[in-house]
Amino acid sequence: MAKKAAGVKKSCSFCGRNYDAVSRLIQGDADAFICNECVEACHMLLKKDQKQAPSKPIGKIPTPSQIKEHLDEYIIGQNKAKKNACRCSLQSLQAFAYQGRQ
Ligand SMILES: [Zn+2]
Repeated sequence: MAKKAAGVKKSCSFCGRNYDAVSRLIQGDADAFICNECVEACHMLLKKDQKQAPSKPIGKIPTPSQIKEHLDEYIIGQNKAKKNACRCSLQSLQAFAYQGRQ
C-alpha cells in the first residue's frame, strides 16, 4: 500500500473543513476535494435554480433553409460548413424543445 505524502492535509477546497471534520471527502482532480456538506449545498442550489428557471416555450423551430439563409447574411461561401451548422443547430433546438415538454 502506498504511503500518504507527509504533511499533506486533506481538506474541502470549498469550505476548508478538514478531512476528519466531515463525513465524506471526495477527491476531484489532483489536490481538489469537496466534502459531503458542500455537495449537499450545491445540490440544493441546483434544485432551487431548476425550480426558478422559467420554462419558456421555444416557439417555432426554424427550417434548415431558414437557418442557412440567416447564416448566408454573415458568412460567404463555406456551404458545407453552413450545412453542418444547420444540421447541428436543428438537432440542438429539437433536443431543447423535447426537454421543455418533459
Ligand atoms: Zn466543504
